[in-house]
Amino acid sequence: MNITVIGTGYVGLVTGACFAEMGNIVACVDVDVEKIGLLESGRIPIYEPGLEQIVQNNRLAGRLNFTTDLTSAMTSSDVYIIAVGTPQDDDGSADLQQVLDVAKDIGRNLNQRAVVINKSTVPVGTADSVRAVIAEQLAARNLSLEFDVVSNPEFLKEGAAVEDFMRPDRIILGVESDYAKEVMSDLYHTFSRNHDKLMFMGVRDAELTKYAATAMLATKISFMNEMANLAERMGVDIENVRKGIGSDSRIGYSYIYPGSGYGGSCVPKDVKALMRMGDEFGYPTQILKSVEACNQAQKQRLFEKLTERFGAEFSGRTIAIWGLAFKPGTDDMREASSLVLINQLVAAGAKVRAYDPVAMDEAKRHFPSSYFKDGCVTLCEHQYDALTDADALVLVTEWKPFRQPDFNAIKKLLKHPIIIDGRNQYDPKSLCRQGFDYSGIGRISGK
Ligand code: NAD
Repeated sequence: MNITVIGTGYVGLVTGACFAEMGNIVACVDVDVEKIGLLESGRIPIYEPGLEQIVQNNRLAGRLNFTTDLTSAMTSSDVYIIAVGTPQDDDGSADLQQVLDVAKDIGRNLNQRAVVINKSTVPVGTADSVRAVIAEQLAARNLSLEFDVVSNPEFLKEGAAVEDFMRPDRIILGVESDYAKEVMSDLYHTFSRNHDKLMFMGVRDAELTKYAATAMLATKISFMNEMANLAERMGVDIENVRKGIGSDSRIGYSYIYPGSGYGGSCVPKDVKALMRMGDEFGYPTQILKSVEACNQAQKQRLFEKLTERFGAEFSGRTIAIWGLAFKPGTDDMREASSLVLINQLVAAGAKVRAYDPVAMDEAKRHFPSSYFKDGCVTLCEHQYDALTDADALVLVTEWKPFRQPDFNAIKKLLKHPIIIDGRNQYDPKSLCRQGFDYSGIGRISGK
């Protein structure tokens, strides 16, 4: 098939590369000239395991092309995939400007019957708006062309995006015509060979499915964090409780790890957008409001744990931080817990020494340059460098090299043997035996 993907971010690039890998001819379009220049030179602008190789192979094979010019990319495509951003607006709703701009561009350039696939995460009813915008542009050109708008939300996880795209749990397809159903079956059948993963439904059903899935995951996380905070006060180890409830097949083990709050480019904004939809449709959501409030509070926990040891004044203190990305496997720091913690520490007068295996460049973009100039935040070359002269170590992101560290080295390098484990990676008893003052999320200290 000839496919045009519009928006070459995490979702668009992975989508374009994976469809090209299956033998399709793909044009990836983006308004970001720098990004397209980088991709044309064979490099990729994000860290995503396995992606660079697929992009390179398919670019060299002539199946994957990058351009800033949508008009040239639109000459003969069977499908147009919208994969632009839907950032959070000031009131929490999804900002649809990028999606509607693309719809306008498509309407201005469409010359043959095509299926327009919306892969961006968008509120219920957006497909209707996209259809109206395209129809308006076609009418202005005195063109009467048939076209379909399909909702095909994306469920990939950053850090495992290629694997998720290639082997999805399900492919949600909101369609309204037999023609669109046929085209979508052709497009996706190769990802559905092991068993049927294509789930056809109404367009609005598909739009809500994406938000409901994300909100359910957020709910599991906030619920578990609430249990963890309760467990801490009761002298209960939440890790035993986690395993105890996870073994119930109705609950399951995934997404019930207590921690320092969820972040990333999707979950926080999508939960808020769904809350806004609830307000708009006259059904203010109660659970989601609590989920969001719990998450905000959870992001404060690491700083609170430090103040329990050092008081509120941090001048003269240095805190080591392992992990800046919002989760392992990605360089994405959007809404990461590390941002909340570091901003709180700097405001309280502390110096921060931080290390992350891949998010160091991102970190430079997320903090004011004064943090680095004034020496408030130092990005260290190695995980152990971060510990030099630090009063405590805080584990924020559970990258693999942090999971079984050299505790003797940690103890030697830290001024005080204090470890705040924001992802419950370490054994409290073992650390206590080794002389550490350990605090996890919802765990008893090990003393
Ligand atoms: P992103 O910000 O990484 O990429 C969006 C891209 O669209 C940018 O490169 C931007 O320059 C480009 N763009 C903006 N306007 C454009 C236009 N008019 N024409 C062409 N390109 C344009 O975003 P993302 O993380 O890839 O997310 C895209 C959508 O997918 C969002 O709705 C998001 O919620 C959803 N989503 C994201 C993930 C994820 O893990 N990142 C997972 C599932 C769904």
